[in-house]
Amino acid sequence: MFATVGMNSMVAAIDIAANLAQVRTRIEAAARAAGRDPADVALVAVTKTHGAAAIRAALAAGQRVFGENRVQEAEDKWPEIKAEFAAARLHLIGPLQSNKAKRAVQLFDAIETVDRPKIARVLAEEMAKANRRPACFIEVNTGEESQKSGVLPAQVDAFVRECREIYGLPVEGLMCIPPVDEEPSLHFGLLSEMAKRNGLRHLSMGMSADYEIAIAFGATFVRVGTAIFGPRPSFTGAK
Ligand SMILES: *Cc1c(COP(=O)(O)O)cnc(C)c1O
Repeated sequence: MFATVGMNSMVAAIDIAANLAQVRTRIEAAARAAGRDPADVALVAVTKTHGAAAIRAALAAGQRVFGENRVQEAEDKWPEIKAEFAAARLHLIGPLQSNKAKRAVQLFDAIETVDRPKIARVLAEEMAKANRRPACFIEVNTGEESQKSGVLPAQVDAFVRECREIYGLPVEGLMCIPPVDEEPSLHFGLLSEMAKRNGLRHLSMGMSADYEIAIAFGATFVRVGTAIFGPRPSFTGAK
Protein backbone atom coordinates (compact mmCIF):
# COMPACT_ATOMS: atom_id res chain seq x y z
CA MET A 1 0.00 0.00 0.00
CA PHE A 2 1.00 3.64 -0.45
CA ALA A 3 3.60 2.96 -3.16
CA THR A 4 4.37 6.39 -4.54
CA VAL A 5 4.83 7.38 -8.13
CA GLY A 6 5.93 10.82 -9.20
CA MET A 7 6.75 13.64 -6.84
CA ASN A 8 3.34 14.28 -5.40
CA SER A 9 3.03 11.34 -3.03
CA MET A 10 0.57 10.13 -5.59
CA VAL A 11 -0.56 6.59 -5.13
CA ALA A 12 -0.89 4.47 -8.25
CA ALA A 13 -4.42 4.05 -9.59
CA ILE A 14 -4.37 0.35 -8.83
CA ASP A 15 -3.62 1.09 -5.18
CA ILE A 16 -6.36 3.73 -4.98
CA ALA A 17 -8.89 1.18 -6.21
CA ALA A 18 -7.65 -1.41 -3.72
CA ASN A 19 -7.56 1.09 -0.86
CA LEU A 20 -11.08 2.25 -1.67
CA ALA A 21 -12.32 -1.33 -1.69
CA GLN A 22 -10.73 -1.92 1.69
CA VAL A 23 -12.17 1.25 3.22
CA ARG A 24 -15.62 0.37 1.87
CA THR A 25 -15.39 -3.12 3.34
CA ARG A 26 -14.42 -1.69 6.72
CA ILE A 27 -17.23 0.87 6.58
CA GLU A 28 -19.76 -1.88 5.90
CA ALA A 29 -18.41 -4.04 8.70
CA ALA A 30 -18.43 -1.13 11.16
CA ALA A 31 -22.00 -0.24 10.20
CA ARG A 32 -23.19 -3.82 10.61
CA ALA A 33 -21.39 -4.16 13.93
CA ALA A 34 -23.28 -1.07 15.11
CA GLY A 35 -26.59 -2.50 13.92
CA ARG A 36 -26.79 0.10 11.18
CA ASP A 37 -27.53 -0.12 7.46
CA PRO A 38 -24.21 0.33 5.58
CA ALA A 39 -26.15 2.33 2.98
CA ASP A 40 -26.62 5.04 5.61
CA VAL A 41 -22.89 5.76 5.77
CA ALA A 42 -21.40 7.69 2.85
CA LEU A 43 -17.71 7.84 2.17
CA VAL A 44 -16.30 11.29 1.39
CA ALA A 45 -12.97 10.72 -0.37
CA VAL A 46 -10.74 13.62 0.64
CA THR A 47 -8.59 14.65 -2.33
CA LYS A 48 -6.92 17.81 -1.00
CA THR A 49 -3.32 18.10 -2.32
CA HIS A 50 -3.95 15.24 -4.75
CA GLY A 51 -4.16 15.84 -8.47
CA ALA A 52 -6.65 14.98 -11.19
CA ALA A 53 -5.08 11.55 -11.82
CA ALA A 54 -5.83 10.42 -8.27
CA ILE A 55 -9.36 11.82 -8.46
CA ARG A 56 -9.97 10.07 -11.77
CA ALA A 57 -8.67 6.79 -10.37
CA ALA A 58 -11.19 7.05 -7.52
CA LEU A 59 -13.99 7.92 -9.95
CA ALA A 60 -13.05 4.92 -12.09
CA ALA A 61 -13.32 2.77 -8.96
CA GLY A 62 -16.88 4.01 -8.45
CA GLN A 63 -16.30 6.73 -5.86
CA ARG A 64 -18.72 9.65 -6.23
CA VAL A 65 -18.47 11.87 -3.13
CA PHE A 66 -15.32 13.92 -2.58
CA GLY A 67 -13.99 16.46 -0.12
CA GLU A 68 -11.68 19.42 -0.60
CA ASN A 69 -10.58 21.88 2.06
CA ARG A 70 -9.72 24.92 -0.06
CA VAL A 71 -11.96 26.76 -2.50
CA GLN A 72 -9.13 27.87 -4.78
CA GLU A 73 -7.58 24.42 -5.00
CA ALA A 74 -10.97 22.88 -5.72
CA GLU A 75 -11.61 25.42 -8.48
CA ASP A 76 -8.31 24.47 -10.08
CA LYS A 77 -9.15 20.77 -10.13
CA TRP A 78 -12.88 20.19 -10.18
CA PRO A 79 -14.88 22.10 -12.83
CA GLU A 80 -13.52 19.98 -15.64
CA ILE A 81 -14.03 16.72 -13.75
CA LYS A 82 -17.53 17.68 -12.64
CA ALA A 83 -18.47 18.51 -16.23
CA GLU A 84 -17.44 15.01 -17.17
CA PHE A 85 -18.88 13.15 -14.17
CA ALA A 86 -22.29 14.65 -13.50
CA ALA A 87 -22.85 12.37 -10.50
CA ALA A 88 -19.73 13.53 -8.66
CA ARG A 89 -20.51 15.43 -5.46
CA LEU A 90 -18.08 17.80 -3.81
CA HIS A 91 -18.01 18.73 -0.11
CA LEU A 92 -16.14 21.72 1.29
CA ILE A 93 -14.51 20.50 4.50
CA GLY A 94 -12.11 23.38 5.21
CA PRO A 95 -12.68 26.87 6.63
CA LEU A 96 -14.61 29.26 4.38
CA GLN A 97 -13.89 32.98 4.10
CA SER A 98 -16.82 35.18 3.19
CA ASN A 99 -15.07 36.57 0.10
CA LYS A 100 -15.03 33.01 -1.30
CA ALA A 101 -18.63 32.16 -0.42
CA LYS A 102 -19.93 32.96 -3.91
CA ARG A 103 -17.47 30.59 -5.54
CA ALA A 104 -18.08 27.94 -2.90
CA VAL A 105 -21.83 28.04 -3.58
CA GLN A 106 -21.19 27.63 -7.30
CA LEU A 107 -18.82 24.67 -7.02
CA PHE A 108 -19.68 22.68 -3.91
CA ASP A 109 -22.68 20.43 -3.28
CA ALA A 110 -22.25 20.57 0.49
CA ILE A 111 -20.56 23.07 2.76
CA GLU A 112 -19.55 21.32 5.97
CA THR A 113 -17.89 24.24 7.72
CA VAL A 114 -20.59 26.82 8.45
CA ASP A 115 -19.38 28.20 11.76
CA ARG A 116 -20.37 31.85 12.28
CA PRO A 117 -23.26 34.23 11.61
CA LYS A 118 -21.37 36.24 9.02
CA ILE A 119 -20.65 33.23 6.81
CA ALA A 120 -24.24 32.00 7.27
CA ARG A 121 -25.58 35.37 6.10
CA VAL A 122 -23.23 35.58 3.10
CA LEU A 123 -23.98 31.98 2.10
CA ALA A 124 -27.71 32.69 2.24
CA GLU A 125 -27.25 35.74 -0.01
CA GLU A 126 -25.09 33.87 -2.51
CA MET A 127 -27.48 30.90 -2.60
CA ALA A 128 -30.36 33.21 -3.41
CA LYS A 129 -28.38 34.87 -6.21
CA ALA A 130 -27.09 31.62 -7.68
CA ASN A 131 -30.36 29.75 -7.17
CA ARG A 132 -28.30 26.88 -5.82
CA ARG A 133 -28.61 25.42 -2.34
CA PRO A 134 -25.68 23.25 -1.24
CA ALA A 135 -26.44 21.28 1.92
CA CYS A 136 -25.02 22.99 4.98
CA PHE A 137 -23.36 21.41 7.98
CA ILE A 138 -22.53 23.32 11.13
CA GLU A 139 -18.94 22.73 12.20
CA VAL A 140 -18.65 22.22 15.95
CA ASN A 141 -15.42 22.77 17.86
CA THR A 142 -16.15 19.90 20.21
CA GLY A 143 -12.72 20.10 21.83
CA GLU A 144 -13.07 23.86 22.42
CA GLU A 145 -9.61 24.33 20.91
CA SER A 146 -8.66 27.98 20.50
CA GLN A 147 -6.85 27.45 17.17
CA LYS A 148 -9.75 25.55 15.60
CA SER A 149 -12.78 26.86 13.81
CA GLY A 150 -16.29 25.70 14.61
CA VAL A 151 -18.97 26.87 17.01
CA LEU A 152 -18.57 25.98 20.67
CA PRO A 153 -20.83 23.18 21.94
CA ALA A 154 -22.76 25.59 24.19
CA GLN A 155 -23.66 27.72 21.16
CA VAL A 156 -24.70 25.00 18.75
CA ASP A 157 -28.45 25.00 19.42
CA ALA A 158 -28.75 28.76 19.06
CA PHE A 159 -26.59 28.83 15.95
CA VAL A 160 -28.53 26.02 14.25
CA ARG A 161 -31.74 27.93 14.96
CA GLU A 162 -30.24 31.16 13.63
CA CYS A 163 -29.07 29.45 10.42
CA ARG A 164 -32.49 27.96 9.84
CA GLU A 165 -34.82 30.70 10.98
CA ILE A 166 -32.95 33.88 10.18
CA TYR A 167 -30.92 32.83 7.16
CA GLY A 168 -33.08 29.99 5.84
CA LEU A 169 -30.06 27.78 5.16
CA PRO A 170 -30.58 24.11 4.31
CA VAL A 171 -28.92 22.85 7.49
CA GLU A 172 -28.66 19.06 7.27
CA GLY A 173 -26.10 18.10 9.85
CA LEU A 174 -23.14 18.70 12.10
CA MET A 175 -19.44 18.18 11.49
CA CYS A 176 -16.46 17.91 13.84
CA ILE A 177 -12.72 17.34 13.86
CA PRO A 178 -11.78 16.05 17.33
CA PRO A 179 -8.50 17.10 18.97
CA VAL A 180 -5.67 14.84 17.75
CA ASP A 181 -4.61 13.77 21.22
CA GLU A 182 -8.01 12.86 22.67
CA GLU A 183 -10.25 9.84 22.59
CA PRO A 184 -12.43 10.62 19.56
CA SER A 185 -15.45 8.70 20.80
CA LEU A 186 -16.23 11.36 23.41
CA HIS A 187 -16.41 13.95 20.67
CA PHE A 188 -18.40 11.75 18.33
CA GLY A 189 -20.89 10.98 21.10
CA LEU A 190 -21.25 14.66 21.90
CA LEU A 191 -21.82 15.59 18.25
CA SER A 192 -24.41 12.85 17.91
CA GLU A 193 -26.31 14.15 20.95
CA MET A 194 -26.29 17.69 19.59
CA ALA A 195 -27.57 16.53 16.19
CA LYS A 196 -30.38 14.55 17.78
CA ARG A 197 -31.68 17.35 19.94
CA ASN A 198 -31.63 19.70 16.94
CA GLY A 199 -33.41 17.27 14.64
CA LEU A 200 -30.45 16.97 12.27
CA ARG A 201 -30.03 13.68 10.44
CA HIS A 202 -26.46 13.96 9.23
CA LEU A 203 -23.20 13.62 11.12
CA SER A 204 -19.91 14.20 9.31
CA MET A 205 -17.24 12.72 11.55
CA GLY A 206 -14.38 10.25 11.38
CA MET A 207 -11.18 10.36 9.32
CA SER A 208 -8.64 7.71 8.26
CA ALA A 209 -7.61 6.91 11.84
CA ASP A 210 -11.04 6.72 13.44
CA TYR A 211 -13.85 6.36 10.91
CA GLU A 212 -14.96 3.00 12.28
CA ILE A 213 -15.40 4.51 15.74
CA ALA A 214 -17.33 7.41 14.21
CA ILE A 215 -19.67 4.95 12.49
CA ALA A 216 -20.36 3.28 15.83
CA PHE A 217 -21.46 6.71 17.07
CA GLY A 218 -23.75 7.38 14.13
CA ALA A 219 -21.61 9.02 11.42
CA THR A 220 -23.49 9.33 8.13
CA PHE A 221 -20.47 10.82 6.33
CA VAL A 222 -16.89 9.76 7.02
CA ARG A 223 -14.11 11.88 5.51
CA VAL A 224 -11.20 9.69 4.50
CA GLY A 225 -8.06 10.85 2.69
CA THR A 226 -4.83 9.12 3.65
CA ALA A 227 -6.26 5.60 3.81
CA ILE A 228 -7.32 5.96 0.15
CA PHE A 229 -4.76 8.22 -1.49
CA GLY A 230 -1.70 7.74 0.71
CA PRO A 231 0.22 10.35 2.67
CA ARG A 232 -0.02 13.99 1.64
CA PRO A 233 3.02 16.15 1.01
CA SER A 234 3.54 18.05 4.27
CA PHE A 235 3.33 21.72 3.50
CA THR A 236 1.56 24.23 5.69
CA GLY A 237 -2.17 23.83 5.63
CA ALA A 238 -2.07 20.45 3.94
CA LYS A 239 -2.84 18.46 7.05
C1 LIG B 1 -7.76 16.22 5.54
C2 LIG B 1 -9.05 16.09 6.19
C3 LIG B 1 -9.66 14.83 6.35
C4 LIG B 1 -9.02 13.52 5.91
O1 LIG B 1 -7.98 13.18 6.79
P1 LIG B 1 -7.23 11.77 6.68
O2 LIG B 1 -6.62 11.60 8.02
O3 LIG B 1 -6.22 11.93 5.60
O4 LIG B 1 -8.22 10.74 6.37
C5 LIG B 1 -10.91 14.79 6.95
N1 LIG B 1 -11.52 15.91 7.37
C6 LIG B 1 -10.97 17.12 7.23
C7 LIG B 1 -11.71 18.33 7.70
C8 LIG B 1 -9.72 17.26 6.64
O5 LIG B 1 -9.19 18.49 6.52
